[in-house]
Amino acid sequence: MSDLHIDLVAANRILAMENVLDGYGHVSVRSDRKPGHFFMSRSLAPQLVKVSDIMEHDADSEPVGDDRKPYLERFLHGEIYRQRPDVMAIVHSHSDAVIPFGVTKSAMKPIYHMASFLYSGVPVFEIRRTRAENDLLIRDHELGRDLAKSLGKCNCVLMRGHGMTVVGDGLPEVVFRAVYTQVNARLQTAAGHLQGPIEFLSEEEGKRATVTNRGTVERPWELWKMKAMGPEPGSR
Ligand SMILES: [Zn+2]
Repeated sequence: MSDLHIDLVAANRILAMENVLDGYGHVSVRSDRKPGHFFMSRSLAPQLVKVSDIMEHDADSEPVGDDRKPYLERFLHGEIYRQRPDVMAIVHSHSDAVIPFGVTKSAMKPIYHMASFLYSGVPVFEIRRTRAENDLLIRDHELGRDLAKSLGKCNCVLMRGHGMTVVGDGLPEVVFRAVYTQVNARLQTAAGHLQGPIEFLSEEEGKRATVTNRGTVERPWELWKMKAMGPEPGSR
């Protein structure tokens, strides 16, 4: 049982606790032993994930030596890891708060410093450009590749009529980003009802605040992990 597996269980439970994931959605982490591979639970509600549910997936998003049922949308993880060597962890969520930004002309932008990482832009993936006849889900390599292309160098991509996918340099950062993307969506929607125009963070502010937040990302992670998993053995 590696620390990475325990942290992946924690990430699943934190994201469920924070209502970023419910019965659906998933989080993965790049393998520390084989960089082309990644770890993710078998097909299961995130709140229920235990270490024994975690499966290694290869670079083609297939489970390695494991015949348990994988997540249908595992291809979005594999194809992003392939196209983005800097990405170490990924969250895919059906967060209701972000849906309006994927189906209107209102672009999501960083409204406050906790979501400063959105300065890189928040593209919207239009699945119809890849496949007119679709069920919105990223169910194969081709769709995964095009989603990864849509993400480009950004930290978050919205998926029209479906949800969002967020990337980070590890589990603490990707959990932080998924939580605060959802908060940013709520705040931007609320601000939209007030007298505008909305004053967003500038690109420079976004860059600087992202560097600052990276220095403290362990703080909320430790708090969330304790709430989701209980105190670590030996801490009492
Ligand atoms: Zn999905």
